[in-house]
Amino acid sequence: MTNIPDSHPRKSSLLSRQKIVDGAKRGLLADSAMIAHGRGEAYDYLLGERTTSSASIAIREAAARLLRAVSPVISMNGNSTVLAGAEAIKIAAIVGCPIEVNIYYRTEERMTRLVNELESMREELLASSPRAERDAISRVEILGLVSDGRIRGLEGPRSLCSADGIEKADVVLVPLEDGDRCEALIALGKEVIAIDLNPLSRTSRTATVTIVDEVSRALSGIVNELHSKPEPSIWDNKNTLKDALEVMGNSYLRI
Ligand code: ATP
Ligand code: MG
Repeated sequence: MTNIPDSHPRKSSLLSRQKIVDGAKRGLLADSAMIAHGRGEAYDYLLGERTTSSASIAIREAAARLLRAVSPVISMNGNSTVLAGAEAIKIAAIVGCPIEVNIYYRTEERMTRLVNELESMREELLASSPRAERDAISRVEILGLVSDGRIRGLEGPRSLCSADGIEKADVVLVPLEDGDRCEALIALGKEVIAIDLNPLSRTSRTATVTIVDEVSRALSGIVNELHSKPEPSIWDNKNTLKDALEVMGNSYLRI
């Protein structure tokens, strides 16, 4: 897989697919992770595998709201960690917020593996970053192993979270969130910034700001936007969903 030529038009999609395959082998993902990824790939194909202009505006809004938040947190699952863990750590370092591993099919084993994975990604990033950025990177907390918080409105293991992370957060950035949890977080009065390639999912329709884009493109976009210190706007989320559907609907024009 590593020998795909740079000129291959779908190189990054193929590399992402391989990351999912490797992540599954290493026990980082739920059994259904490949189904979720495949669904994402289909929507991304319709988008043209690029960040649309309305997704860019949503990315900017996400950066603005993370900067304005009092207690922001980035919630990571298996797929988002494998595909874009390093980008999430960069965001956390710039914003000064924790990352919380929070997964739908929770097992202690997978929680530990994902926390360890993010910690080793943080070490790698530390080693490759300029001196001026190292302090902030080393301060990024990876929460999740201690589930001393609850998401009210959810039952069983899915209600577990960290008191210092999701429970106390006013803004939650959640790549690839489940609709139920998104609804519960919104009902608690939190702002939810979701990243989801499906503009029709419950998550996309419920979130405060939805970025309809592939998770690694969206998170790198947020890293870039944070540097320009954007201000939040009055946000019409339906518009961004309509726009994504329009781009997908017009994909036949590329034939
Ligand atoms: P919901 O629970 O919000 O109604 P769902 O149950 O239809 O949605 P899930 O299986 O919970 O969907 O989550 C998978 C979602 O993640 C899909 O909507 C899929 O399009 C999206 N997705 C998968 N891979 C990526 C990716 N790499 N980047 C962005 N989104 C992705
Ligand atoms: Mg779901």
